[in-house]
This record gives sequence, C-alpha cells and structure tokens, in this order.
Amino acid sequence: MSAPALPVARVLRPAFARLRLLRSAWRRWQLWLLLAMLVLALLVTVVWLAGRHEVEQTQSVLDRDTADAVSDLRDGMQRNVQTLRASLAGGVDREQWENRAAALLRDHREWLRLEWRDAALKPIGMVDSPYRRRIFEPDDRGPGQPDVEQACASARKLGTPAYSPSHYVPVIQGTGLEVMEVCVPVEGGGYLVAAYSLRDILGELLAPMLSRGQEVAFTEADGTRLVAIGAPRRIGTRVFSAQQLIDLPGATLMLRVDGWRAVPDLFPNMLTALVTAISIALVSVLVLLARDTRRRQRAEGDLADALAFRKAMEDSVITGLRARDLQGRITYVNPAFCEMVGFSAEELMGSSDVDVPYWPTELAHEYQRRQAARLAGGTPPREGFESVFMRKDGSRFPVLIFEAPLINALGSQTGWMSASIDISEQRRVEELSRASQERLQASARLATVGEMASLLSHELTQPLAAIASYASGSLNLLHAEGATRAREHEEVAMAVRRIAEQADRAGQVIRSVHDFVRRRDRTREAVAPQALVEAVLPLVRLQARKLGVRIELALEDALPAVVCDRTLVEQVLLNLARNGMQAMDTPGPGERVLRLRVARAASAGGAAGGGPDARRWLEFSVADLGCGISEEVAARLFTPFFTTRADGMGLGLSLCRTVVEQHGGVLMYEPHRPRGTVFRFTLPTA
Ligand code: ADP
Repeated sequence: MSAPALPVARVLRPAFARLRLLRSAWRRWQLWLLLAMLVLALLVTVVWLAGRHEVEQTQSVLDRDTADAVSDLRDGMQRNVQTLRASLAGGVDREQWENRAAALLRDHREWLRLEWRDAALKPIGMVDSPYRRRIFEPDDRGPGQPDVEQACASARKLGTPAYSPSHYVPVIQGTGLEVMEVCVPVEGGGYLVAAYSLRDILGELLAPMLSRGQEVAFTEADGTRLVAIGAPRRIGTRVFSAQQLIDLPGATLMLRVDGWRAVPDLFPNMLTALVTAISIALVSVLVLLARDTRRRQRAEGDLADALAFRKAMEDSVITGLRARDLQGRITYVNPAFCEMVGFSAEELMGSSDVDVPYWPTELAHEYQRRQAARLAGGTPPREGFESVFMRKDGSRFPVLIFEAPLINALGSQTGWMSASIDISEQRRVEELSRASQERLQASARLATVGEMASLLSHELTQPLAAIASYASGSLNLLHAEGATRAREHEEVAMAVRRIAEQADRAGQVIRSVHDFVRRRDRTREAVAPQALVEAVLPLVRLQARKLGVRIELALEDALPAVVCDRTLVEQVLLNLARNGMQAMDTPGPGERVLRLRVARAASAGGAAGGGPDARRWLEFSVADLGCGISEEVAARLFTPFFTTRADGMGLGLSLCRTVVEQHGGVLMYEPHRPRGTVFRFTLPTA
C-alpha cells in the first residue's frame, strides 16, 4: 500500500512546503500593508484636521470682526442722530442752524447734506457737504421727495429716527452715489434729514483696520452689492466671507466682509507643518523598516538554506563526527557516529571523559592521557591516530581518529572536533593479504624443498655408503684372525671416527633442510651475516656440486649483525644463489663461479661512498657468470609466476623483493663483468 504512495508524497511534500512559505510571506505582507494604510489614513486625517482648524479659526475671526463692525456702525449712527438733534438745541433760527450744520458737515464726511424741514416736510434750511460737489438739485428736494417722505413717515409713526432704503443718485458722467436718508423728528413738529453716502459710512464709521487686506461692502438682503471699500481680491487666494444684517428702523442693510488668505492651505500654520514633517519622518521610518525586514528575511532564508545544507551533509557522510567542549563533554554527534558505536545521540550527549560509554574500560587510562595532553594545548597529529572504540554490545573495533580544534567566529577555541573512521574492514583485508602472502611464501619454500629432495637423496647416498662400508670394514676387522691387537684397535677406532664424521655430515644435511622448512615465528632478531650465509651454504653447495659450480665467499671483517627475519632472508639468499647457478647451467666453455659477498653499504639504496648513514646497512651480493638477463626478461623479472625455466614457478624473485622491502632494504641487479648478473640487497644493521 505504502510503496506507490511514497513517490507521490515525495513529490507533494516540497510543493506543500513552498505553499506554506508563500502563505506566511503573504500574511506578513498583509500586515505591512495594513500598517502602511493605517499610518497613511492617520496622516491624511491629521493634515485635514489641521487645515480645517485653521479655516475655522480664520472664519471665526472674520465673523467676530464683522459683528464688531456692525455694532460700530450702529453706535456711529446713533451718535450722529444725537449730534443732529443737538444742532437745534437752544432754539435757533435758520441762519444759526445752517452755520451749525455747515460745521457738522466738515466733521462728518459721511453726510452729503443736512436739511431742516417743517412738519409738512417743506425745507426750512439745507446745507451741502463741503467735500463734494452738490449732487442734489434743490428742486428735487421738495416735500414730495419719495425717500425722505418714506423715512419721515416711518419716523413719525415710530416716534424715533428712521431711515430710507438706499437709493442711487446719479451724478455727472454716468457715475452716481448710493444714498440713504435718515429722518429725525424734532420737538415742535419738524424733521432733520441727513443724506448718508453709503460708501462714506464704511470709510468713516468703521475702523480703518477692517478694510485692510479685505473687502467691506454693503449689500441688499438678496446679496446685491451696493458699495464696497478695501483691497480687491488677489489671484491665488481663498475667500472667507462673513455677513451680518444691520436692521435699521425703516431700512435693512447687509454688511459683508470678504477676507482672503493665501491658497493652497496645505501648510497653513506651524502645527500643520510640524505634523507633516513628523508624518514624512514616520513614512520614511516605515520604508526603512520594511527594507530592513526584507533584508533580514533574505538573510534568514540564506541562513536556513546553509543550515539545511550543512545538516544534510553531516547526516549523509559516513565518517563519524563528534564535537567536544573544552571540558571534554560531547556537544554534538552525527548519525554516522551513533551508528558506528550503537548509542543514540541522547545517550552520548553531555557525557564527559569519565563516563564516555564507547570507551573500553581497559583503555580508559590511555584516553585520559590523551585528553590531558589536549587540554595542555598539545596539537593532535595531522595524520590522525588509531584507537579502539566499544559498541553498545561490548564488541571492540579499531578506529582512525582525526582531531582538530574548534575555532569560533571570534577566533577563540571552544572545543575539539574529531572525525572517526571505522577501520575494522580495512584491518580484515590487511590480515587476509598477510595470511595469503605467508601461505605463498610457505608454498614457495616447499617447492624449493621438493627440488632439494632429489639432491638430498643423491648427496646422502655418499655418506651413507661410506658409513656402510666403514661399518662392514670394522666388522671385518673385528672378526679377522691373525691381526695384531693394537693395529686392529687403531684401525677400528679410525673407522668408527669416520662413521661418526659421515653420520654427522648426513645429519647436518638433513638438519639444514629441516631448519629451512620448519616454520618459525616471524620475529626479527639480530643475526650475524656469517650465520645467515652459513645456514644456506650446505644447501647451496649441494646444488653447486651437481652443476659443477665453484662457490667463492667474501665476507668483510668485523661485520655488525643485521636485524631480520632469519628464515626469510635465508630463503632470499638461497633463491638468488640458485638462480645464479641455474643461469650458469648452460653448455659451453668457461668457468662456473658463484661469488657471495657481504659488505657495509652506504645506505639502504646501496650506493657506494660513506654517508652519515653508512654504518647502518649491509649489502649482500650474489654474482654469477651466467647467461645474463635480456631486455624482455628484465621487463617482467619481478612479475609473479614469470619464469623461463620449464620447472620454474616464477615466484622466487618477487618474494625476494617483498621480503627485502619488508625489512626496509632494496633489491636490485646489474650486469656482471665479464658476463653474468649481480643481484644485491641491503639489510639494516642492529
Ligand atoms: P624461477 O627461479 O622459479 O624461474 P625466479 O622469480 O627466481 O623464478 O626467476 C625468474 C626468472 O628470472 C628466471 O626464470 C630467469 O629467467 C631469470 N633469472 C633470475 N635470476 C637470474 C640470473 N642470475 N641470471 C639470469 N637470469 C635470471
């Protein structure tokens, strides 16, 4: 069931992981978006509120100014009415009044003309403003003059001063004035009438500040502008308007004030500017924060990737990895290490030198010594060292350990890292090859023995035959009659000595073969070179006699002992001697001499001349006068199983080289003068 599901899961899992990542990234972006929108909304609101506050402020100032202006107007008009009344005080005649009226007109530029009329509105006296050309024709100002009539009718009805609605009075050249009359009833039945110029009311009765930078106007109730003073509107400004009704008896006027402030009103005052600056700073911080977060996310992603890669690497290597702190406590192990020793990571973590579970108890002291050396600051060998670990089941296995100090980012050491390799398999292979090598050597030795056996039988026949003849001769002598006793005895004694000699010789021959074949412990020992030569000599002579070869020995005096495995080196000597003699076993004239030489060598390489190493090596050489070694033979000389002889095995030289090299020496050969070959090998001295 699970088998086909596995690939699908393997395909889907990364897709799901990507989806999850995308979703979380989107959620994070949403949050950022929301935050940005909120901040934006806040900023817009604050700026808008600040602007609105400014507008309201301006508007309310304008409203207050307008209200003040209206009250100023009312007060001014009230005062003017009283001034008018005062002009008649104390019972004056027409002339006196006109004088007074003229004086009043000089003080009040808003008046155009003052009239004193009787109860039937007939003018008694009238004076025009000295500041203007006369604008009213006397004929027009009769009792029937409609505005005056209307004002005075109201005044009469109300018993208080009353005003006429404003009206336009044309002056010359198409210009005119907006005029408004006020009719003040006086004691004794009559009226004082004053004609106001609306424009001058604005100029005279209002504070001059009001018309500075703004326009002040009278309008009708429907908004029609009658007169206006002040600065005209500038381009690029925003208008603020305030208007207020002036309810006069008999007439209604509207005062309108238009003020302008520069537009756009985006930075109307310090507050808004400050808020905007803070907003910009806030947005910048937000942008920086977003960028920082993005960078951080990218770094986090990279870090996660690197970590995942490292983890995968540590989990997949077959080398056991282990980290320890400076106190020797294990801080990390990888799966390969756990598998190697059979303990779980939890079991290993935190264990220190005294209780590491994979240390064989019998070797604990060695580990502690190593740990002490480490703590003392000793550097471990680069090529690593061998040790033994114990599995959970108690079995031991060899390991190769490489150690290195753990250096942190600040450059200080925090512990030790070690890589361990299980070398038990390697050991097994080595053991196998060693065993097979030994077997090969043994069989080569046996082959030699087989070859020797025929020689041996031939050789033993002589001493044995001699023994037999001496023995029978002795018997004969003992049994012979007529012989003198003394002479008999001497002869028997001689015969028996010969028997002993021959038996000894036969025994020696057999012993030499026995010694050679017997498998001895492979131990290195210090052996005198003479002893080595003498051990093989009986066997060499055996063959030499058969082939008619003369053996020459040349051993330097007082040679030091060599350190070697006796059996193997003897076999090397024997092989080389045998090869040399066989090479001379060709029909033809010429001497057959085999020269065995032992001398001091300069070095393992055997080069002549005294170096500092001169005493430490001996050189053995075997020289023959044989056929020599041709190029084709030379090319394959040391190849196992290469032979030119019908009964050869081809193992001799390859084994010789192995043995010599195992002892640290070298085996080489060169042509011999006048003919033949010299084989040399070196061995270290004791
Ligand atoms: P084997 O003696 O069984 O043939 P070796 O490995 O000892 O095997 O020798 C391999 C071959 O090297 C020999 O067959 C011979 O041809 C050649 N050889 C060895 N020693 C000599 C020598 N001293 N002179 C000439 N040829 C030699």
